[in-house]
Amino acid sequence: MKKLNNYIGGDFINPFSDKYIENVNPSTGKIFSLIADSDENDVNLAVEAAKAAFPEWSCKGVEFRSKWLLKLANYIEENIEKFAQAETQDNGKPISLSRSMDIPRAVQNLSFFATAILHDKDEAYHTSTHVLNYTLRQPLGVVGCISPWNLPLYLFTWKIAPALASGNCVVAKPSELTPYTAYLLSEACQAIDFPAGVLNIVHGYGQKTGAAIVAHNDTKAISFTGGTQTGKTIASVAAPMFKKLSLELGGKNATVIFADADLEEATQTAVKAAFTNQGQICLCGSRILVENKIYEKFKTKFVEKVKQLQLGDPLDETTQQGATVSQAHQEKVLSYIELAKHEGGIILTGGNKVTSENLPERCKDGFFIEPTVIEGLSAFCRTNQEEIFGAVTTLIPFENENEAIEFANCTPYGLSASVWTQNLPKAHRVASQLETGIVWINTWLLRDLRTPFGGAKQSGVGREGGYEALRFFTEEKNVCLKF
Ligand code: NDP
Repeated sequence: MKKLNNYIGGDFINPFSDKYIENVNPSTGKIFSLIADSDENDVNLAVEAAKAAFPEWSCKGVEFRSKWLLKLANYIEENIEKFAQAETQDNGKPISLSRSMDIPRAVQNLSFFATAILHDKDEAYHTSTHVLNYTLRQPLGVVGCISPWNLPLYLFTWKIAPALASGNCVVAKPSELTPYTAYLLSEACQAIDFPAGVLNIVHGYGQKTGAAIVAHNDTKAISFTGGTQTGKTIASVAAPMFKKLSLELGGKNATVIFADADLEEATQTAVKAAFTNQGQICLCGSRILVENKIYEKFKTKFVEKVKQLQLGDPLDETTQQGATVSQAHQEKVLSYIELAKHEGGIILTGGNKVTSENLPERCKDGFFIEPTVIEGLSAFCRTNQEEIFGAVTTLIPFENENEAIEFANCTPYGLSASVWTQNLPKAHRVASQLETGIVWINTWLLRDLRTPFGGAKQSGVGREGGYEALRFFTEEKNVCLKF
């Protein structure tokens, strides 16, 4: 069986432990590869390789780094089908999504930061006739990047691209649930002769491998995307070591639909926002707030569209709903459906694990859940406060603008919101009052990579995207020159 070994100093290396973790395809329930079960010894080796590569990588100009990142982007683009198949096999997401979103976005991440550095600039201040101040932005050294399983290569490259582009060397860990495309990325590095030691990929469990990256004295910054609880643990280790820290955490995002919205478009997009990637995107609209006046009409349309979602084998081109990432996560999502029922929720559609007789033979042991819509719950109950991160959404009626804002803001999270109205002044008013890092108006998940990306409250600290990300991976120095 294929072994996904660590990529350190340009070579594939067995883990010190010589142990491997079984990698399960969530749509079949079958083991298809083995993942290096790394520990701090492997992380130490990776950090040493990164330290050795840093002087040359950081000293070469932006054109040099840009060229290498573009080579990597081109390699993925040329092998897009291989990467897309691997992502679907590892994560259970529909192949159409891997092809149209995950892998193209990984290419875009690399090429975006590869070219952004060519156009970046530093400020200079002419303080007086004989005094000039300028800002030097210097790479930090070795940085740690830790990413989750929901958008594996997409989020992995979203971190490593700005880190490498700004001159750092990286020790990165993908989720042990979905390491395959990160492994293919290391194969890509070898195939194109990417400078050894600049990017090191160490596989393994978060609490062992990830924790060792965070705790290592020589990782100067940690860029982390994952759950809020893990973010807290990481911050408790990294903050006392005075590391730079970027945390992109959980969400409980509201889709807010006012009575004057274009109902057809709002409904269609609300379905996408709730169920794309089986609801496993941090930006998914897992609470749909609907103005009372159109509640029943919206509900009927919405439920009808959710029932039409095509669930099945992720390798089938027509599948819109694939498998949940793991059995443990399937159980977690199902436990929230039970909680919702216990809290008085009414299941309008879905609510169950998909039984084997409703799945193709290949997928009968896979971890599938019916897309689920629930109503009748208070905005303040646990189902509506805690992140479920699965194919479950709730409908919550509201009376007026103030109540919509109150409900949208009433969770500990603050990642994103999607607001639907044709009244422009209202759209601006509501956007300014939402306690989130991102507000979409009459759309969802429309991204411009130049914009700051991140969350408020317990959804994170710091921003990724555009120049924010390049700034994060550099130390700013003010040089004041008197002449
Ligand atoms: P986790 O927090 O469980 O894991 C994220 C990553 O951190 C994984 O690589 C994991 O490794 C690793 N990890 C776990 N524990 C530690 C530790 N103590 N020290 C260092 N690393 C550790 O999140 P999930 O993978 O379950 O991802 C889902 C979560 O991610 C959701 O809450 C979602 O909202 C959030 N997310 C946020 C986004 C944002 O941009 N704000 C975007 C996407 C997801 P391993 O898996 O191998 O154990």
